[in-house]
Formats: sequence, structure tokens, C-alpha cells
Amino acid sequence: MNPELGTWNSESAMSFTIHGIGVSGGIAIGHAHRVSHAKLEVTRYVVPQSRVPEESARFDAAIRRVRGELEELRANVPATAPAEFAGFINLHLMILDDSTLSVAPRRIIETECCNAEWALKAQMDALLAQFDEIEDGYLRERKRDVIQVVERVMKVLSGQPGYTPPPPMLDAEHDLILVARDLSPADVVQFKQHDFASFITDLGGTTSHTAVVARSLAIPSIVALHTARQLIRENEMLIVDGSEGVVIVDPDEPVLSEYQLRQRQFEIGRQKLKRLRDRRAVTLDGVQIDLHANIELPADVAEARENGATGIGLFRSEFLFLNRTDLPDEDEQFEAYRKVAVEMDGMPVTIRTYDLGADKPGDEPQRTITNPALGLRAIRLCLTEPQRFVTQLRAMLRASHHGSINILIPMLATAAEVDQTLALIRLAKHSLDEAGIPYDRDVRVGGMIEVPAAALALGMFIRKLDFLSIGTNDLIQYTLAIDRTDDTVAHLYDPLHPAVLSLLAHVIMTADKARVPVALCGEMAGDVSLTRLLLAFGLRQYSMHTAHLLDVKQVILKSSLSKLRPLARKMLRTSDPEKLHALLERLNA
Ligand code: PEP
Ligand code: MG
Repeated sequence: MNPELGTWNSESAMSFTIHGIGVSGGIAIGHAHRVSHAKLEVTRYVVPQSRVPEESARFDAAIRRVRGELEELRANVPATAPAEFAGFINLHLMILDDSTLSVAPRRIIETECCNAEWALKAQMDALLAQFDEIEDGYLRERKRDVIQVVERVMKVLSGQPGYTPPPPMLDAEHDLILVARDLSPADVVQFKQHDFASFITDLGGTTSHTAVVARSLAIPSIVALHTARQLIRENEMLIVDGSEGVVIVDPDEPVLSEYQLRQRQFEIGRQKLKRLRDRRAVTLDGVQIDLHANIELPADVAEARENGATGIGLFRSEFLFLNRTDLPDEDEQFEAYRKVAVEMDGMPVTIRTYDLGADKPGDEPQRTITNPALGLRAIRLCLTEPQRFVTQLRAMLRASHHGSINILIPMLATAAEVDQTLALIRLAKHSLDEAGIPYDRDVRVGGMIEVPAAALALGMFIRKLDFLSIGTNDLIQYTLAIDRTDDTVAHLYDPLHPAVLSLLAHVIMTADKARVPVALCGEMAGDVSLTRLLLAFGLRQYSMHTAHLLDVKQVILKSSLSKLRPLARKMLRTSDPEKLHALLERLNA
């Protein structure tokens, strides 16, 4: 997507807009802060023995160059810069001069005959692992500084030296709009500890896990901008319209005022919706709907309750496994699950077994995988690591003693996966019985329907499981063969594709006939334009990010099922995209 050139503002900087895909609504106004991917991607290659001295010299030159850059920065600190600025530069100089980064990589180059980037990355990883052991929060935070210093050296090694901004001052975070090429779900989940105004990326799809976590932050965000990193400079004024997927760079005064007004109106709308928090979600013809929340971390429960969630429909437990080098042990997991169960105060909490792999890699050795979404992820991965899996199952079972917990199995495709999981749950229960540890003997076990094979062969899952939950993010990805993380095919990702609608209706109606409860926890559940359609298909339990709960409740309160059903039936008989959109509009009128 190319930027559209606009007007010149008073300082003769060009104002322009960039278009992408809005993944989280609302308007943010603030200053750009360019960030790099938290994980430096570096490949290893062998350097012939005869060229090792040259490679070492290349490394030394990069270190010297970065030292020069930092010293120059220190000498030219602007008078207006915050007092901490010089301190950060000194800290970066100290990190650079530590022998771990400035001397040891040279030894690695010489002994392993490898490239300088690889040697530096190896030393950085070793240093970061030491930081993880540090108890002191302030010192642990300095990891970011180590990464930034190494990024600076990497830039020089790759022939692109330049200015890397110092880390932002924490008290100014609410003014910062992060501009990145790409961010992993692991990076984004860390933003929960921050107060950034917004983030925008050049890559990413609408239902990538990065976008999914963005929605849970409830800050405006846009992906697939393609050129943002290239065109936006550090500290430039930006307007991010997350609903429209538009970034306005260097807006002029009238545009800025217009968006300030829209921002206030959006906020007033949100506040008004809050009044619905304690209203029961019931249709005009009296059908009760469960509105549950999707969470990534126990800390998200407060927000879920504030937005009136009557349960947790999807706790993506794999986020407990990200951003760390070790595994959470049974007690740590138990505490996390127990906390959610207790805070939900008897309301149902559905915890999904860890869905690692694909775009959420855990600690497994990194291999080159051509089709990670089709590879060893979710339940497939769980079943290859029975010990790790049983540890999680024991933690979930123990937590079930403290609340109403359901276990959810991700990405089922075969009956054998259910059988093996149920056998491991029995094993976990047996070990708890032997140790005299209490748990809920009737804990319910459900499965995610997110692979077309599972949707089509639903009978074998219905017979074995207590409930189902439809994961439309993956179901659409696998049905339409569209990588949910790839921005170049994001426009083809279509929840209204007749094949998707027919699978959804089939799963909801078949489960209903068999009296097996079925929920929907993909991003479709939080899309208000689809609320009525799903209602008409027979969906009675929605699970979504907390930011959407009240919007969806508002639609439900104004819907009458008897009027919706005939239109939805018509949609299922229609394959023409234009007619489908027209029918959806009538349904939502
Ligand atoms: C889904 O696939 O719809 C889902 C809810 O799971 P996730 O987005 O975590 O893959
Ligand atoms: Mg999924």
C-alpha cells in the first residue's frame, strides 16, 4: 500500500497517510517511536580459515564505530533532552565495552570460524540468560538496553549504521506510538505492562496472534502498513485511526483538531457502553446468551470483569510459556490457573492446553519449517511431550478445586488425539489421587474445532467430549488456505466465504442437536457485524477480547431471533459474495 501525499504543514514537512489493516479500533495521537523486533534474526555461516582475521577485524571495526556514534551522541545531547538521556548513553557505552560483547565474540569467530553476527548474537543470548536470573526488577529491565546496543552493532555489521533512539522514558509512554516492521505475539504481550498509545507494523494479518493480542490491549493498532518503518521518522507526530486502518503522518492543524474531536467522541461512546456492564445479555425474544472473555494472562481477568464477562471462554495458557528461557513448573501454572478461577468467583473458566508452535514458538530448538501452521503445534506438540503436558494437566486439575474449570484441547484433527489426551488426563488424576491432592472429579473436557477435518467429522468429537469451541481464526486459515500471519494474503481472509459459513452452521447445528454445548472463541465472536448471523445459526456462547464484550451485548439486546433466522437460512443458500454482503446488511439493519 503506497502512502498518499497530502498537504505541507507549517514547518514544510510533508503530511501524508499510510493505509493498512486496522486490528484494534479507536484513535491514538502521539509521537513515533521506532522499535525493532525483540528477537534478532541472524543466520550462521562458516568463514574460511584464511578469512577469519578479516572477519575479526570487521567485528572490531563495528564495535569502534558504535562507540564513536554513542560518544558523539553524548557530546551533542540537546539542552531540552530529559536528564536521564545522558545516563542512558553512558549505560549503553558501558554495556558495549563489557568484554562479553566487545571481546568474547572475537574468540568465537576465531575458534568456530563463524560470522561476526552469529558470534555476537551467541554472546548476547548468554548475557540475556544471566539477566533472567536477576531478582532485582530494575536490573532485569536492563535487558532491553543490551538488546539495543547489540542491534546498533548488528546494523553496522549489516552496512546500515544509523541512529537508534534511546529507550523511551516510562512516564511518556502514553504519548508513544510504536512503529515496527513486525512484532511477535510474545513481544506484544509484554506491552501489557506498558501504557503505549498505539502500535503499528508493516507486516502481519488480521487474525495473526499479534493482532489478537493487540485487541486485548484495547489500544488502536494497525498491521500490514508495508512502508511505515521506511517512511516514519523517530518522534514524528502521528494519528492512528485503528478503526479505519489509517495512519496520518505529521498532520496539519485542522486534521489534528478533527481527530482530537473524534477521539473524545469515541471515549464518550465507550463510557456510555459501560452502563451495560451488569445487564444480562438477552435477545428481544428472551434468549439468554453467554458472553465470555478471551484472556492471555491472569492479570487480564480484572478487565474481563469490568466489561461484564460471565466467564472466561478461552485462557490462552501458552502465553505463560513465552518470553522466558525456562518452563513454568506445576506450582507456577497452578497458581496462575487458581488465581483466574478464584477471581472469576465460580463463573466458568475454560483453560486451553498450551497452543505453542507456528507463530508462538516455545523453547523448542528452532528448525526451518516450511509450513509451521501445518506442523507440530497445539495438541500435536503437547502429545509429543507427555511429561510437560501432564505437568500442565495436573496444574489445571489442582486449580479446578478452587473454581469452575474446563479443559480445552486446541487444534484437534483426529479421534486418537482426543483419546490420548483423555488418557493423560486420567493419568494426571490418578497421580493426584495417589498424593491425596483434591480436584474437581467432574472437570469438563472440550475440544477446539478449528481444522476443517474436525468440523466435517464432528461426530467423533461430539461422542467423546463435553463441549466444543470453534476457533474461527484457524478454521478460516485452514479452510481457505490463507496464512493468517501473512499480510500479502490478508485481503483474502473472508469470514463470509460460503465454505466458512456452511462449516460454522454445520458445527453449531450438529452440536446443538446432540445437546453438546458449543462456543465460538475466534475473532469472529467479537465482530459486531457478525453477531446476529451467529445468533441466527444458533450460537449461544461467544468468547472474545474484553474490549468487544459490551458492543456485542448491545447488539444482542436489540436482536430478535425469530426475525433473523429466515435471512440467515437464505445466506446459507447463497454463494454470490455481493448478495451475501447485501443479506448481511439486511440482517444488521
Ligand atoms: C482460533 O483459532 O480461532 C482461536 C481462538 O485460537 P488462536 O487464535 O489462539 O489460534
Ligand atoms: Mg487457533
